[in-house]
Amino acid sequence: MRRAAAFALCSALMAAWSWGKASISAQAGESCTAGMVMPVQGSEIVARFDGPYQAWMAGHRGIDIRAQKGDELIAPATGIISHAGTVAGKSTVSIRVRSFTLTFEPAQTALPVGTPVLRGKPFAKVAGGSDHCNDACVHWSIKRGKGAYEDPERWLTPQSIRLVPVA
Ligand SMILES: [Zn+2]
Repeated sequence: MRRAAAFALCSALMAAWSWGKASISAQAGESCTAGMVMPVQGSEIVARFDGPYQAWMAGHRGIDIRAQKGDELIAPATGIISHAGTVAGKSTVSIRVRSFTLTFEPAQTALPVGTPVLRGKPFAKVAGGSDHCNDACVHWSIKRGKGAYEDPERWLTPQSIRLVPVA
């Protein structure tokens, strides 16, 4: 029973990956564990996702990961640099992974927009001067298309563990 449920959720995860128009060959070949890797090696989540029920409501549209200025950021998934620069006075770097946009703040990279990044490889460094994290963490968000923000932790954790109800 538990295995069957896990398999179903696994399929759902793959369906999410195939949402984009691009081929899913890279991820489809991987085991059905975590879809993405932690962007700061050996770190931990210090503030969880708190998605609002409506887009205009307050919330925390990402997770905060303990990090120091200068720490290396690791690409959670294979994609391309889709933004690198300053937004509203904050240094941010974004990676597009199929229809998802992964954004890190504060972050800086020397890589120009359009550069491919590989899952597990460094692509940027944690910057300073964020009022969000008080220079003690990096904020990571995942946006699906032009729509809602998703909980990055969902992609880090095997869904079979978090979402299978206890029967
Ligand atoms: Zn945050």
